[in-house]
Amino acid sequence: MMKRWVHYKPPRWPALAMALLLAGAWLVIGLPSQAAPGQAGKGAGHGHARNIILIVGDGTSHSLLQAARLVAAGPSGRLAVDELPHTASVLTHSANSLVTDSAAAATAMATGVKTVNGAVGVDAGGKAVPTVLERAKAAGKAVGLVTTSYITDATPAAFAAHVTNRADTTAIAAQMLERGVDVILGGGENDFLPADQNGCYPQPGKRTDGRDLMAEARSQGYTTICRADELDELAGRPVKKVLGLFADGDLFPALYQEVGAAAGDDGGKSGGDVPSLATMTARAIEVLARNPKGFFLLVEEEGTDELAHARDVAGAVRAARGLDAAVEVALRFARDRRDTLVIVVGDHETGGLAIQGTGNGYSSDPQAPCPAGAEGPFRTPDGQAFCLSQATAAHTGQPVPIAAYGPGAARVTGVLDNTDVARIMLAAMGLNRKP
Ligand SMILES: [Zn+2]
Repeated sequence: MMKRWVHYKPPRWPALAMALLLAGAWLVIGLPSQAAPGQAGKGAGHGHARNIILIVGDGTSHSLLQAARLVAAGPSGRLAVDELPHTASVLTHSANSLVTDSAAAATAMATGVKTVNGAVGVDAGGKAVPTVLERAKAAGKAVGLVTTSYITDATPAAFAAHVTNRADTTAIAAQMLERGVDVILGGGENDFLPADQNGCYPQPGKRTDGRDLMAEARSQGYTTICRADELDELAGRPVKKVLGLFADGDLFPALYQEVGAAAGDDGGKSGGDVPSLATMTARAIEVLARNPKGFFLLVEEEGTDELAHARDVAGAVRAARGLDAAVEVALRFARDRRDTLVIVVGDHETGGLAIQGTGNGYSSDPQAPCPAGAEGPFRTPDGQAFCLSQATAAHTGQPVPIAAYGPGAARVTGVLDNTDVARIMLAAMGLNRKP
């Protein structure tokens, strides 16, 4: 499937001609104070975004995407994410550190407010701040959260919960239902079940308040599921609210680690016993798109971060391909319409990942070994090879990539702060004034 992108060349000329026409019109009617949404080129669309699909690659850097690009499509190939025409760099520092964690980074992107590391949906003083997801819900849109992590992990949590400590996952689970999040797909079943109660997976629940959130969700009209085939069976069924939890903890180990690598080796398209990110994204879009006012969907790939922490760089590259497979699903939905903004962004870099040559470091010879400390060689489809090394097992302060397609995408340009991501999404939905 990846080869489909190998020879893709964006059709620049029609877009440029349109831009010149619009520029001419502006000379007559006066220059706009800023680029109007949807008037700057291919994939820009017109007017407001009815739907937003925000895809976060946790820990995803240019280096990791390039490693995935090389493995999937070779040095001249392209990923699905390369189809998004508007790109920029994002600065990621938090309110109290030059190196952010995922909680502060996701809070910045969800609310437009910087906070301290570890905080979720609250400002640096601990006060709850409204999120893009909540604003979309208040505007009548359907909202969803999808991740290969446990669903109460920091990134999805920051869009639908307000807690000062990201470790407070049982409180986050309860808040996700209170927010009325329509589609919830990921891991973390035991955050939704009371202590001593088992669900579909071996570990008993973690809740000490005695609440069975799965049962509560069913009484609120959710379809609750826990197996990949149950998610497949949702296709075409007219459900509006889904709570699907497919493991006690994370999903990404089964998708991308060596034991389950058969799934990752097909570019993250399928997930075996747990659903792939691409499959969850497709089902979530199908359910959310039934809302006539549109939807906001957050999709997160977590293996790109956690496997880099674990120094499993091969696993992290598989996870980046899983991320890209989800991007392909989102683009397939958005491409035929003029109303959907797709944004793909890293929340921070993890590992200080470096792409190195084989042998003396300047070779692509697959027979040569990797330099000391580097993993590989990793092969490209055209028979070349490269190596990967990491500077650290922690996050780094590097800027991260962002790319966008659809109405409002033209605002993704230059050097952005991570708080700008929230403003770009609110402006795209026409929700950028205080409620
Ligand atoms: Zn991390």
